[in-house]
Amino acid sequence: MEAIRNLLEVKLQAFDPEVDELIRDEMRRNEETINLIASENYPPKSSMKAISSMLSGIYSEGYPGERYYRGLENIDKIESVAIKRAKAVFGAEHANVQALSGSSANIAAYLALLQIGDPILSMEIDAGGHLSHGAKVNIVSKLFQVHQYGVDPATGLLDYDAIRKMALEIKPRLIVCGASAYPRIIDFARFGAIAKEAGAFLMDDMAHIAGMVATGDHPSPVPHCDIVTTTTHKTLRMTRGALILCRQEHAAKVDRAVFPVLQGGPHQANISAIAVGLKHLTTPEYKDYIGRLLKNAKLLASELQALGFAIVSGGTDNHLMLVDLSAQGIDGDRASIILEEANIVVNKNKVPGDKGTAKKPYGIRLGSPAITTRGMGPEEVRQIARWIQSVLLNPDDEALRKRVKAEVTALCRRFPIYQPTF
Ligand SMILES: *Cc1c(COP(=O)(O)O)cnc(C)c1O
Repeated sequence: MEAIRNLLEVKLQAFDPEVDELIRDEMRRNEETINLIASENYPPKSSMKAISSMLSGIYSEGYPGERYYRGLENIDKIESVAIKRAKAVFGAEHANVQALSGSSANIAAYLALLQIGDPILSMEIDAGGHLSHGAKVNIVSKLFQVHQYGVDPATGLLDYDAIRKMALEIKPRLIVCGASAYPRIIDFARFGAIAKEAGAFLMDDMAHIAGMVATGDHPSPVPHCDIVTTTTHKTLRMTRGALILCRQEHAAKVDRAVFPVLQGGPHQANISAIAVGLKHLTTPEYKDYIGRLLKNAKLLASELQALGFAIVSGGTDNHLMLVDLSAQGIDGDRASIILEEANIVVNKNKVPGDKGTAKKPYGIRLGSPAITTRGMGPEEVRQIARWIQSVLLNPDDEALRKRVKAEVTALCRRFPIYQPTF
């Protein structure tokens, strides 16, 4: 008995050095690399403390005040705090904090508003939409009749007249706006007008831009949409999860769609971490962070442009940009591999009019959330642009990559993500 009890207390490093070492390796990799993945960030320690608490083992099917298990007085309070904060930050009438990821939040939103087989109109993945907006390989394309809009291949911009035309022809039950790789402001009022004219519900998936929406640095989709979904771990900088915000009229349907239609018990440790993360969003430091993140993204785009790279749509209004590498004759897959050898992490991405494939597209996507969190500013951004240029223009020069890697590592040491005692 004593032995069983004692095992609870053994620290990770002592009990499982194998996994402990791998986690440490991953922390080291992060500390030594420049992370330009637009969807990644580093959550605050206060949130991570909450997610690693004993709440990880809790079962709490249902919602605060109406659970199927007893013993949930404290859990109810925690989830209620998260809900209250989510509503306050985004000015929403209702919030559900239980969806396990952005993809499941989206499926729950569809299930709340639609019947199986209903037509939806969303952004295609090649233009910057997300898998869960109904890409062919995704379950959503089997559950609903998916029609998709793209961007103008010449400008890289949403063509609202073309979207309106499609909407009036298709008469979708739901229009989905929002994207994973769109560098410009999305005109939610315009989408709202189109949805109204077409007699469709409107949903926005603001996963990427939610941080800017929270601080008022991007127009909010909330007043224009029936439902707004978001992940919590991108510009919002919380631990991984999702929020579903909606009008009161959809509240019961949204909650039911998440539980019991799509999920069982929610991950309460993460809900507590999301509550903490939501508190971070209301601090002056976070507002300042978003201001810097926007400046860093704009600067990175203009520096790369000055160095001869084509930036889709000519720049960015948010935290991300798409670099079209077709003029350089290097595909995004190879570009991301050689940049990683220099400790600069990016992802390959299709660009408008891309002649490549999903595995070998002709673009890369870059974002400023992670470098800004670690405190990098204009000087570092200019240096990063120069490193990207030298690596991509000399794809066969391994020695150069080694040199850049050493310089990148040295820079990263000056901007630790977390204090070494972590
Ligand atoms: C990242 C993202 C998601 C998916 O989130 P997961 O948590 O990975 O399921 C959904 N929608 C958009 C627009 C995204 O960028």
